[in-house]
Amino acid sequence: MARKDNCTIMQCDRCQTLKYFEKQDDHGFKEWWNIVRFDADGSQHDYLLCARCHEQYVNKLKDADNEFDSWMKNGAQS
Ligand SMILES: [Zn+2]
Repeated sequence: MARKDNCTIMQCDRCQTLKYFEKQDDHGFKEWWNIVRFDADGSQHDYLLCARCHEQYVNKLKDADNEFDSWMKNGAQS
């Protein structure tokens, strides 16, 4: 088949991995993530991440959450 309509092609904004899905219930489709990030200036940035990059991103978020929680709790002492 030379032509295929109504498919989805994903490309990770970080590692540039390309993936082709014929249907949205294909294996692996739900492992791709649209994330929204606000930078220090409050600007919103949208990214598409593959499963591997999303896992690393979540770990970075957890580290940032822990740092933020610690910083918030120690405000009265400084
Ligand atoms: Zn990736």
